[in-house]
Amino acid sequence: MQIDPSSPRQAQELLNSHGLRAQKRLGQNFLCDKNILDKIVRGAELTSSDRVVEIGGGMGALTLALSAATGHVTTVEIDQLLRPILEQVVADRHNVSLVFEDFLRLDIVKLFDEAFGDSPGTVVANIPYYITTPILEQLIIHKKRLKKIVLLVQQEFAARMTAPAGSDECGAMSLYAQYHANIELVGIVPKTVFLPQPEVNSAIIALTPVIPGTVSVSSETRLFYLTRAAFGQRRKTLLNALMRAPASFGLGFNMDSRKEVEELLLNADIDGTRRGETLNLTEFARLTEESLILHPIS
Ligand code: SAM
Repeated sequence: MQIDPSSPRQAQELLNSHGLRAQKRLGQNFLCDKNILDKIVRGAELTSSDRVVEIGGGMGALTLALSAATGHVTTVEIDQLLRPILEQVVADRHNVSLVFEDFLRLDIVKLFDEAFGDSPGTVVANIPYYITTPILEQLIIHKKRLKKIVLLVQQEFAARMTAPAGSDECGAMSLYAQYHANIELVGIVPKTVFLPQPEVNSAIIALTPVIPGTVSVSSETRLFYLTRAAFGQRRKTLLNALMRAPASFGLGFNMDSRKEVEELLLNADIDGTRRGETLNLTEFARLTEESLILHPIS
């Protein structure tokens, strides 16, 4: 009989029978709800010829759902203790490969080459909250290999990723992600569907990478310098934030002269008395182009 790790009772029995407990330090909150699993799979818009990399296989609840919906699934799991369970759960699935490694330490290019071949693939993950940002950054770095990224994350993180410019939740990381991908909130996930229950609710987000980006800029480095400068001094006027932006943000120039920043803002047609965090990506793109005229990258 097929083991069903999406049933809370069977998931608990699996842990018990292997003498294991969910490890908090690895963010092990196992998803035990068929409707939510379906929702994640639907969010990934998979076809039978797609190839998926799953990060954090756990006991295989999501792995099984993905394997039923697509061509091939490569599941990465850091915890060797879960190996016997995962191997048992996917034993009759011929389209699943298991990789027991730390996703943040493995060779991602090699993983994607082996998992996807030449075509772009999909990443789906119910990821541990404490490494959400580094995982997303790695996926964005390799976005050319990806057609879709579907993540189950803390609700608060999902709110930041989908936040409109000017809202309290919108930060430099929001704009970074929103430059690299179109981001959609697929649904909210109550904490009650996990074993054990986490302290907060979660949400599913779907990212569709955009190449090169969602706005047009001549230098991404300069764009992100400016967003970090503007957000680095929240609640300050844009004029002050840009004047105080540390050169350590890495561009080798310092906009410390008021006259220079005023000229930049005038040329970009942006009111310097606005707070930096109210600008949207289109305005940051304009600022980027004007700043490149004043300070070309050598
Ligand atoms: N996919 C399963 C599910 O939905 O029930 C498990 C999700 S659980 C929130 C996160 C899983 O990620 C855990 O099994 C944990 O051991 C694994 N994990 C934690 N850090 C990891 C890392 N750096 N690389 C790969 N897997 C990791």
